[in-house]
Amino acid sequence: MLASPPMHRRRYLLLLAGLVACSGARAPEPSCPPTMPAPLATPSAAPTPNAPAAAAPPVTQARIPGGTITVAVAPTRAYVERTDGAQLLNCDLRIKNGTGVAWKLVEIEVSVHDSRDALAWRRLVTDGGVSPAISTVPNRELPEGAELLLLNPVSELALDLELARVHFTLTFVATNGDERLVVGADVRPIQYEDHAELRFPLAGRLIVWSGHDYLAHHRRWDYVFTPIRSFGFVSNAGRYAYDLVPVDATGAMHAGHPEDNKSWFGFGAPVLAPAVGKVVAVRDDHPDNREFDVDKLADDLMLMYGNHVVIDHGHGEHSLFAHLQQKSVTVKVGDVVKAGDRVGAIGASGSANFPHLHYQLQDGPNARAEGLPSYFHDFVRHRGARAIPVKRGTIGSGDLIEASTAKRR
Ligand SMILES: [Zn+2]
Repeated sequence: MLASPPMHRRRYLLLLAGLVACSGARAPEPSCPPTMPAPLATPSAAPTPNAPAAAAPPVTQARIPGGTITVAVAPTRAYVERTDGAQLLNCDLRIKNGTGVAWKLVEIEVSVHDSRDALAWRRLVTDGGVSPAISTVPNRELPEGAELLLLNPVSELALDLELARVHFTLTFVATNGDERLVVGADVRPIQYEDHAELRFPLAGRLIVWSGHDYLAHHRRWDYVFTPIRSFGFVSNAGRYAYDLVPVDATGAMHAGHPEDNKSWFGFGAPVLAPAVGKVVAVRDDHPDNREFDVDKLADDLMLMYGNHVVIDHGHGEHSLFAHLQQKSVTVKVGDVVKAGDRVGAIGASGSANFPHLHYQLQDGPNARAEGLPSYFHDFVRHRGARAIPVKRGTIGSGDLIEASTAKRR
């Protein structure tokens, strides 16, 4: 698939470095399951996150004499992640141009309606101003026959908004004229609550080097983009991912040369199961060389994760730990683990720029899954000199976190 001339190959690699990379410069462990923990709630065949049933994926169309533009909300279930400061709606809009004419996206309107369908809030992203807000949205050009993925740019919504229905209105202008086209799409977000009671997968102090806010690279995975889609990706399994990097008391992540894995405080640090579950995937043989074989990616999408462990917690919830240290994995497929069991160690295998733990909760066992929000129990959020205990909460890009020393279950 990438057997193209050297120049093209390099371009693809650069694309991957930018799109797949998990940690800064290039892109995300396991130990023996001791005693048998409590039985799994549900072997997870079907992703069945708790929330009310979602409506069928909304698809809307705008028709002109030359054809239609269609807009579909993805993923089918659009979840709301509730943080201390906002409700996050990490959904995408897939826009297909069947009109035979090229268009350019010039305006996005997002309106929130409550359960009585009354308008509660509305926000515009326009092309007004000297440095227009719409210019922060990439890929606004929609050539004839093309498909675009629009990441919801208004993803942080106030905590007191009732998100019964969120309506997107997209305005396009024909690139060869003045014709305007307006397409709308509805999403009925689902407040997601984890079934699994997740503990922090690392001990000690760490920084959330990257989370999944609108600016985070995990959020900016364009699975509609041809080079990515051509490998076989169909979703954003890392939609709610984190890159976790152990730090010292000053917040430094390493001492010594950053190219040397051993300079990083976290390299080799134990990675712990966050909750009871069954191990469903393990890889342990990749070197900690911060790369993977792109030529084999289409055959095995998990290559970008390097050494990894996937734990099925039941109810469709799967924990994925990536970029683990070579030969550090101490569990095997079929093992049952409980919260706090060591499953591996932090490494730098796969698409990793440096040693870190890439963690994500997802609704299936592989790279074709979709991401799920995760709420952690019993940790401390450091805000400068303040240490704030959190019984249950989310973490985000830039947070300094320490797992509670409270007894793990
Ligand atoms: Zn990552």
